[in-house]
Amino acid sequence: GSSSGIDYRAELNEQQHAAVTSKPGHALVIAGAGSGKTRTLTYRVAYLLDQGVAAKNILLLTFTNKASREMLERVRELIPQDTSDLWGGTFHSVCNRILRRHADELGFTRNFSILDTDDQKSILKALIAEAKIDTKNRRFPKPDVLLSIFSLSENTKTSIRDIIDVSYPYFEEWHDEIKRLHRAYTAKKLDSNSMDFDDLLILTLKLLSKDDDLRDLYQRKFRYVLVDEYQDTNTIQCELIDALVGANNSLMVVGDDAQSIYSWRGADMNNILSFHARYPDAAVYKIETNYRSRPEILELSNAAIKANESQIPKDLRAAREKGAMIPAVIPLSDPRAQADFVTQRIEDLIGEGVDLNEIAVLYRAHYQSMEIQMELTTRDIPFQITSGLRFFEQAHIKDVSAFIRFVVNRKDEVSFKRIAGMLPGIGPKSADNLWKAWIACPVSQHEDPPLSFSEYLNTFKVPKKAAHHWEQLCFTLDELVTREGFQAPSEMIFSITEGVYDDYMRESFDNYEQRKQDVQQLMQYAQGYTDINEFLSQLSLMSSADGDPKANTKQEKIEDAVTLSTIHQAKGLEWKVVFLVWLADGMFPNQRILETEDADQFEEERRLFYVALTRAKDELYLTYPMMNPRSYTGEIMQTPSRFFEDFDQNLVEEWQVQSGW
Ligand code: ATP
Ligand code: MG
Repeated sequence: GSSSGIDYRAELNEQQHAAVTSKPGHALVIAGAGSGKTRTLTYRVAYLLDQGVAAKNILLLTFTNKASREMLERVRELIPQDTSDLWGGTFHSVCNRILRRHADELGFTRNFSILDTDDQKSILKALIAEAKIDTKNRRFPKPDVLLSIFSLSENTKTSIRDIIDVSYPYFEEWHDEIKRLHRAYTAKKLDSNSMDFDDLLILTLKLLSKDDDLRDLYQRKFRYVLVDEYQDTNTIQCELIDALVGANNSLMVVGDDAQSIYSWRGADMNNILSFHARYPDAAVYKIETNYRSRPEILELSNAAIKANESQIPKDLRAAREKGAMIPAVIPLSDPRAQADFVTQRIEDLIGEGVDLNEIAVLYRAHYQSMEIQMELTTRDIPFQITSGLRFFEQAHIKDVSAFIRFVVNRKDEVSFKRIAGMLPGIGPKSADNLWKAWIACPVSQHEDPPLSFSEYLNTFKVPKKAAHHWEQLCFTLDELVTREGFQAPSEMIFSITEGVYDDYMRESFDNYEQRKQDVQQLMQYAQGYTDINEFLSQLSLMSSADGDPKANTKQEKIEDAVTLSTIHQAKGLEWKVVFLVWLADGMFPNQRILETEDADQFEEERRLFYVALTRAKDELYLTYPMMNPRSYTGEIMQTPSRFFEDFDQNLVEEWQVQSGW
């Protein structure tokens, strides 16, 4: 029986209640935006604990690590139980945890490095140079494009050839070269004991597929598997879940096909549509009440998505009462007037007592936030950005972690070359020679660190200009290793900064002070860790929205700030007031999609519009600039987004705003 005293009946509607308290077995909750899918999962976790299920037997897969933290916080509010043994997080973080235990079965060691996009690109650039591909007069794909091809191929289990033919036909003549590069890239990662983000998933799946005992072990462990935002899983993620679910497991997935917005990265809406075929005994729950939005906003959202053909029809009813305004459409003269309007309105809202963290400005692409960022800064309104460069992607933060990564994983070529390259007089060529000398030392291949690095490194030939710095570097590396293993993570950062990096920052960056503060912040953050592998994994996975490790934000939450976010990153979240900007044709829907004239892609773009609208609880502002001076052809007129044609104009109210608002 229940021991917590949670009144499940009172806090959930009938369908939610049935799902939350369902008997062991599989379940699918498919329902529209704001209907309480995430809430259902949260209560389900509480309910299971309430029923005496051990936390260690539950796996909660969410779209961001932050989402999982927030859900577990809520669980602890509901029920005072220790959830530290519960595995919760993104696919990447959960796979990382599994691989840290078993990587040796795949030819890696447990201290493997995780490559981010920059690292991947630098490996690939070197391989392209090595391959001596004759690109004269012909276009060869840039590293970015190559990586997308590789990634799409791996995530959808499609051959490189097919990916090129279907999605990159203009690179057809390079089939063989691209395939060869892919093989070389894969080999290089194994050699350098490094995995990219895709590998975390793919290799975990491989591990579970080839080792039956291990799969049994995890199936016995994760008796209950729960997945949020299931509509955006890709083939690999879907197979991973299937591999973790055996005859005696209970799988509960929740999602909304109308919010599937990641197909460009391999997500496959069919995973949710075919769920019932794969799990025929699964119970299906549908929720038809929306608890988030005022009816005026909901009506608009329902109307906007209706225009899509491929979707499960859902008519959401509003649980909330009518509000004070119907969604506003505001044409503005140009992007600056748009920024002006948005920030002015935000100031008014602040005056009305609205909290800053109840306000979001959403847009299709990160660059569309530029003017608004500037205007918010001018007016001293704090904001946080959940798109754009992450704290941990900044060059100086990556520099510092490169030292640690190399000391921990001596096969990490990218990190070694990054460190060597910081020294004066050492270019790519010398760095490469030094690397070759290093991997020739047997000690470089050991899993345990050598007690002294200088013993080997000091014997290498370095350019004269670098000699003194090299010595200092060796001394610093030696400091990081102790008889017990490694210094604590924060001590390592201290040694690195004092030893060599502070000098380097002073010489290299004009904003030295700012960067020094960042490094100090990193050091503070590191104090929460004793295990170096855990710390490094955390750096790589930090707040990485799943599958979108390139996006996202600083770790610490700014308590009171307006949120600026791409719509993709706003998935699952809600705010009292939402501004959706740049609603002009070519901006949203974006130009590429208008040009392809692909109906499926256009429908996905419309789902993105639906996701944006349904983030708002009380107030929704839709704005667009009528002129765009940033266009390379000079000023151009903008046409209002064709999404406006999808619904009855009575559902919105047009506001006329004077320029210079
Ligand atoms: P999305 O599709 O955007 O991810 P969702 O279906 O996951 O939305 P939630 O975020 O779980 O929806 O819920 C939306 C809001 O409605 C939240 O503020 C939640 O607390 C509230 N809510 C959901 N169900 C109920 C309920 N039965 N009673 C009261 N409030 C509810
Ligand atoms: Mg949700």
